[in-house]
Amino acid sequence: MRHLFPLLALVGLVAGCGTLPGGPTGAYDWVPSPNFNARRPNYVVLHQTSNGDAATALRTLTNPLKSVSTHYLIGRDGRVLQLVAEDARAWHAGASWWGGLTDLNSASIGIELDNDGTEAFADAQIAVLLPLLADLKARYKIPAANFIGHADVAPRRKADPSRHFPWQALAGLGFGLWCELEEATPAAPGFDALLGLAALGYDTRDPLMATLAFRRHFSGDDSRGELDADDRARLQCLLRKKLSPDPP
Ligand SMILES: [Zn+2]
Repeated sequence: MRHLFPLLALVGLVAGCGTLPGGPTGAYDWVPSPNFNARRPNYVVLHQTSNGDAATALRTLTNPLKSVSTHYLIGRDGRVLQLVAEDARAWHAGASWWGGLTDLNSASIGIELDNDGTEAFADAQIAVLLPLLADLKARYKIPAANFIGHADVAPRRKADPSRHFPWQALAGLGFGLWCELEEATPAAPGFDALLGLAALGYDTRDPLMATLAFRRHFSGDDSRGELDADDRARLQCLLRKKLSPDPP
């Protein structure tokens, strides 16, 4: 150990004066370690294009003036297009919040499903979405709870994917959480639903928009925002599931 510090100082002199690969130039001594790899996404954010056809969505998602993009775009016919490399930061989530994370774009893979927001999602589309999700989950070890929707992470701005999105079917395969009322118990007296929504991940600065997003995702109904006893039971059940680690 006695000789380590002079050696580090020498390395700093040789390597620390040039251009740093990140960080303020010249501010720190550069002592490269071989022990690293690329950062990995830990979330998948699902969207609907709200367009009538994939060609329209593709024009927007590749237009430099629009400043929006996605990693994957899936047409109604099941054609999958990749627009951004998975190790790059696509611009799909925008201003976002999930459990304190404020830059979902840096932490996630974005998937746009071509759908106008009023229709059911095409079977051919879901059929190719599922293996893509399975591949992402396996490669990046993404927890089930981290498959979420755009409206979940931006409830004050976004409403996609719509109430037609098959969250229950996805959760059955390990992509997202789900609770049926049969497996939920009534919320405990004094259960603070707004705090529960925040613990699940929601930005609750606008309580009504947060509850709307929750009901759209977990009840398939966004006709009203108020949480009833069933919603509160479901929320409590989801929190319990979120706190349970995924099976290995
Ligand atoms: Zn979206």
